[in-house]
Amino acid sequence: MKQTTIKNIVIVGGGTSGWMTAAMLSRLFNTQLNITLIESDAIGTIGVGEATIPPLQIFNSVLGIKESDFINATQATYKLGIEFENWYQQGDAYMHAFGNVGRDLGFTSFHHYWLCAQAAHNADSNTQYNPADFWRYSINYQAAKHNKFQPIATIPNAQMSGITHAYHFDASLYATMLQQYCSQRSVKRLEGKIDNTILDSSGNIASVILQSGQTIAGDLFIDCSGFSALLIEQALGVDYENWQHWLPCDSAYAVPCESTHPLLPYTKATAHDAGWQWRIPLQHRTGNGIVYSSQYMSDAQAKQQLLDNLDGTPLAEPRKINFTTGRRVKQWHKNCIAIGLSSGFLEPLESTSLHLVQSAIIRLTKLFPHHGIQSQQVDEFNRQSQTEFEQIRDFIILHYHLNAKQTQPDNRGLWQHCRDMSIPESLQQKIDLFSQTANVFRHQDELFTEAAWIQVMLGQGITPADFHPLAVAVEPAALQDYLGNISKVINTTVANMPEHSAFIKAL
Ligand SMILES: Cc1cc2nc3c(=O)[nH]c(=O)nc-3n(C[C@H](O)[C@H](O)[C@H](O)COP(=O)(O)OP(=O)(O)OC[C@H]3O[C@@H](n4cnc5c(N)ncnc54)[C@H](O)[C@@H]3O)c2cc1C
Repeated sequence: MKQTTIKNIVIVGGGTSGWMTAAMLSRLFNTQLNITLIESDAIGTIGVGEATIPPLQIFNSVLGIKESDFINATQATYKLGIEFENWYQQGDAYMHAFGNVGRDLGFTSFHHYWLCAQAAHNADSNTQYNPADFWRYSINYQAAKHNKFQPIATIPNAQMSGITHAYHFDASLYATMLQQYCSQRSVKRLEGKIDNTILDSSGNIASVILQSGQTIAGDLFIDCSGFSALLIEQALGVDYENWQHWLPCDSAYAVPCESTHPLLPYTKATAHDAGWQWRIPLQHRTGNGIVYSSQYMSDAQAKQQLLDNLDGTPLAEPRKINFTTGRRVKQWHKNCIAIGLSSGFLEPLESTSLHLVQSAIIRLTKLFPHHGIQSQQVDEFNRQSQTEFEQIRDFIILHYHLNAKQTQPDNRGLWQHCRDMSIPESLQQKIDLFSQTANVFRHQDELFTEAAWIQVMLGQGITPADFHPLAVAVEPAALQDYLGNISKVINTTVANMPEHSAFIKAL
């Protein structure tokens, strides 16, 4: 086997993305690479990023971190989904619950049978189509709304499989945990501010120079420097594709408050006049933040709105964060790979940022340039990153675009803008297909499942005009039995689960 020529890895940044990258590279390539991580205490980290989606479980498990250790070290709670309040219209609520809803029959997805049953019921009883009924068939939703949690595999005699969970956790405690993990695997940590980046004659990064004058050379540089994008943008000049015309929120205030009871196993995202507010329940506090468009709301208004809508006493002064939604045109350029906020930011609505960090790290390990950087590797990495960013972008735009919120008196406002804006063709196709046929298809390795798309499209007010003909083939009485049985099994299973907080205490 050929010798490794890429040996010295320099990670710039010690936020969650820097430490996640260092942890995974040291876990997989510990003996083959020399890894140095540089962070600046004076600059600090962004200090938000507390809600995740289910794949983080896999990341921790590859690192060999036990779930109970992770939960205890990071004051984490379980997350079964995100509840969207006031998104379609004021007073509405629906959930993007993780995992499946109902049970598919053969090639036909469950929701076609549910739509068929709704149509039959409405015809019989002259009642309205009731989208909220869909969540009776989601174990995650039912457990979430009853503040329960337990992995199904550990419930004796459970008659069903699967509850899909993610976590809410304290990001700074997670970074500390990963830092300790890395120190046991000979990752070298340097503290100091980088003042200068030196390029070689071919435009690759040769070294970075700290304020102290120390020079750190490397073969491959990972830019985890956050929004400053110190290497990929400031040194290498790679452009940023701005998506604010689709995702206009550009500002946030974040503030922790005292935790409240019961301990909810889900995130809340509540829409307001010019954006939305998050509530992330942790064991020791609740993380809160308001996300808004500065075009439609002033900083002072946003700060006040956030403080007026906390569930507990604030534990700090609200902290302002500015951002521009979009993505880095090339996430890998020359010998530099941007991971984390330096590579792009959509917005925190579906808690996808840390997932994008995780998937970039996995992509890097799969395409690792042991024997020197090849353009094919770089192109493939960039192609996959682009597809992933665009698919997640579409899913987030969906929440904003399909709203029926009251028009502001002057016919302006964020919601009106989002309703009127033209959307990416890829998203329009998905909406049209679902509206006409109730079909939704997951493309290749797309992150969000069919169940996720269906829940958000129903929640955002689409009533499909049709459903699959195979659903009609089931006798109406048999269909009612089928649905009733699923709902009964879910209710019995949830009734046997402990309270979320009790489950965590017992860990
Ligand atoms: C409002 C908001 C809410 C969010 N909520 C979520 C969420 O719920 N879920 C989720 O998954 N993600 C969320 N995110 C994203 C999440 O916060 C980030 O993806 C995550 O924290 C990773 O950030 P980072 O490590 O890339 O950058 P940072 O945390 O900013 O770290 C940058 C690092 O680079 C270092 N650095 C910078 N310049 C220099 C220099 N010149 N010299 C030396 N070191 C330097 C800094 O010291 C720091 O260590 C949110 C983001 C925002 C803005």
